[in-house]
Amino acid sequence: MSDDYLESRIPEPTASLLRRARAITPSGSQTLSKAYFAQPWGCPEVPLFIEKADGAWVEDVQGRRYLDYPMALGPIILGHNNPKVTEAIVAQLSKGILFSLPSPLEIAVAEKIVAAVPSAEMVKFLKTGSEACSAAVRLARAVTNRPLVAVGGFHGWHDFYAGLTRRSGGVPEAVRDLTLRFDFNDASSLETLLERHRERVAAILLEPATAEAPANGFLQEVRRLADEHGALLVFDEVVTGLRWSKGGAQEYYGVTPDLTVLGKALGNGMPIAAVTGPADLMRKFDELFVSGTYGGECLSLAAAQAVLRVLEDEPVVEYIWSQGRRLRESFSEAVHRHGLQELVDVTGEPPRVVLSFKEDAVAKSIVGQELAKREVLFNGSFFVSYAHTDNDIELTIAAVDEALGVLAEAVASGDPGSYLEGAVGQPVL
Ligand code: PLP
Repeated sequence: MSDDYLESRIPEPTASLLRRARAITPSGSQTLSKAYFAQPWGCPEVPLFIEKADGAWVEDVQGRRYLDYPMALGPIILGHNNPKVTEAIVAQLSKGILFSLPSPLEIAVAEKIVAAVPSAEMVKFLKTGSEACSAAVRLARAVTNRPLVAVGGFHGWHDFYAGLTRRSGGVPEAVRDLTLRFDFNDASSLETLLERHRERVAAILLEPATAEAPANGFLQEVRRLADEHGALLVFDEVVTGLRWSKGGAQEYYGVTPDLTVLGKALGNGMPIAAVTGPADLMRKFDELFVSGTYGGECLSLAAAQAVLRVLEDEPVVEYIWSQGRRLRESFSEAVHRHGLQELVDVTGEPPRVVLSFKEDAVAKSIVGQELAKREVLFNGSFFVSYAHTDNDIELTIAAVDEALGVLAEAVASGDPGSYLEGAVGQPVL
């Protein structure tokens, strides 16, 4: 399908906005996975621009409402426009956004993180997960005086990680060669890497859970290998932090890393991230150049303080786990009922249930298209928030069941592509 044809199917004002966005912004979006080409775009019901959001629902520029599951790629743990977070931001706004000296707020929020996260004794705030991962890598290199980083997940767009992706342009080979990948849930791939590069690996950086849950004993074995080889273990808890438990996945799985990176849920949408760890490691930052204008920006800190308070006072984590469990069980049952086990996997822990399509972008796009028709916004991950109600969950279970039914019909037809009304959403990495 040509771009012209696809554009002709998109209703206004979405079509005009898309034309303007493509003319003025690379990829038409600030974030690759939010870009039109990552969606099954061209199908009239698939939204491309969001106007506003409240609770678990978003409204697109045409006034159509969708139940949100990407939740802005994970940050919105309490729901959009959570009153306590909004009030905290507004109250801080009247006091000021950013000052010329540190504010008491940064101390208070750091203290809350130290109280919540097992590995945390000191905290350094940054704005994004990518930035905080870079800072943790810098710190690990400085502490160990070693050059290499072993990575086992997704860690943002900075040079040390982007060099490993399909979008490695602009990252010098010399930098690319300093990062080595091992496979999640395969401790032997990490062991091989550490043996081959003895006393050269500064940090093992991994997400404690990805679209997959960690296999029994995997995190413990990674911890053991880090100790044996003198590398720092860094948990990238940008997704799992606050969501798996108030103290993150490290608290949930009972494995304590040396350093921890937080982001996403910490600000419920406000841009805030952090590196935390024990004081003897964190004090090394005193000697390094990790410093920017916005580290102590107060609206995001106020939001983080409110999020942490809500997590202390209310059963957010329990709620997310129990609703996530309902989704996971119902999705698995539907996959079996529709005979789609060869094509669709239901993976991940309940706080982030993932429908994965074994690299079949057509199948994923058909499901995305059918879910959009049923008012569910979908990108693969289901980030349940505290704002998703029982009704929302029931609507989702019914919608996913029907969407999988259409996929099964499409597969049985022998020509699944003919069921797509728009483009195939493209993977961005
Ligand atoms: N680490 C993980 C595990 C992530 O999922 C992401 C973003 O999706 C990042 C790091 C990068 O964070 P940011 O997009 O805030 O730079």
